[in-house]
Amino acid sequence: MPPTVAASVAVASRRIAAAIGLDGREARLEARVLASFAWGVTPAWLIAHDTDALTAEQASTFDALLARRLAGEPIAYVTGVREFFGRPFMVTPDVLIPRPDTELLVERALACLPPDRPADVLDLGTGSGCVAITLALQRPEASVVAVDRSPAALAIAARNAAALGARVEFLESDWLAALAGRRFDIIVSNPPYVAATDPHLARGDVRFEPVSALAAGSDGLADLRRLVAAAPDHLRPGGRVLLEHGCDQASAVRALLETRGFRQVAHWDDLAGFARVTGGILSE
Ligand code: GLN
Repeated sequence: MPPTVAASVAVASRRIAAAIGLDGREARLEARVLASFAWGVTPAWLIAHDTDALTAEQASTFDALLARRLAGEPIAYVTGVREFFGRPFMVTPDVLIPRPDTELLVERALACLPPDRPADVLDLGTGSGCVAITLALQRPEASVVAVDRSPAALAIAARNAAALGARVEFLESDWLAALAGRRFDIIVSNPPYVAATDPHLARGDVRFEPVSALAAGSDGLADLRRLVAAAPDHLRPGGRVLLEHGCDQASAVRALLETRGFRQVAHWDDLAGFARVTGGILSE
C-alpha cells in the first residue's frame, strides 16, 4: 500500500525533528511546507486530501526535497522562497535568507519616512532586496537605491523587485564606493556583523548562507566601521542612518556613530528584548 498524504507528512516531520533538532510544532510546519511545495498544492489541500494515497511520483519528489532538508539545507533554499513583511521573496544561496529580526529595521525606517513625502533612501548590502523593496512598496513617494557588492545577489534582488512591482535602483558597489557625490535622506543597512570566529557560523541554516553576508572581521564590526565612516559624505544635513547589528554590539555602534558626528543616537529592541537596531541623525 502506498502511504497516504497524512502518513508521509507525519513521517517527514518526525525525521526533520530528529535530524535538525526542531520542536514538534516547527517540524510539522516544515513538513507541510515541503509537501505543499513538492506537490504544488496549498497547505489546505493537504488537510482535505489527508487520506489520499500518494502516487510513486509524488512520493519520490517529496523524498528528494526531504533529503535536502535532512542534510541541513535551510527550508528557504529548498523551496526558494521566504516571506518578509508579508511578501514572498525569492532566495538562493547567493543571498542571506530574510530574518524576522530585520523587520525591526524596516519598521524604524518607515517611522522616519512620512507616507506622502518624497525622500531619497539608500539600502547598503541589499542581498535579496527585502529591505529596499519593502520600503519602496510601503512608501511609493520615496526613491530607493539599493547596492550590493555581489552581482549574483543583485540579480536576485532585481527579480524580486520585478515580481513584487517595486521601483528600486540597483547598483553594484562595495558599500558606498560607487556612490560618489550622491546624498540621501536615510541610509539603512543590515550588514554582516557576526565575528568570523563565532561558532554559530558552523551551525544550522547559516552554514549554507553566503559567509560574505554574515561575517565581518574578528569582532563582527569591520563592515559597520567602514559604513559609518563613509555615511556622512552621503547624507544630507539632518539625514539619518539606521543599522541592524548583533545583540552585544549596540554600545559599539553608538560609539562609532557619535564619533562620526551623529546625534540623537538611539537603540531599538527586537522581540527578544535585545537592542538590535541603532540609528542617529547627522549634525547639521
Ligand atoms: N542575524 C544573523 C545571524 O546571526 C546575521 C545577519 C547578519 O549578519 N546581517 O544569523
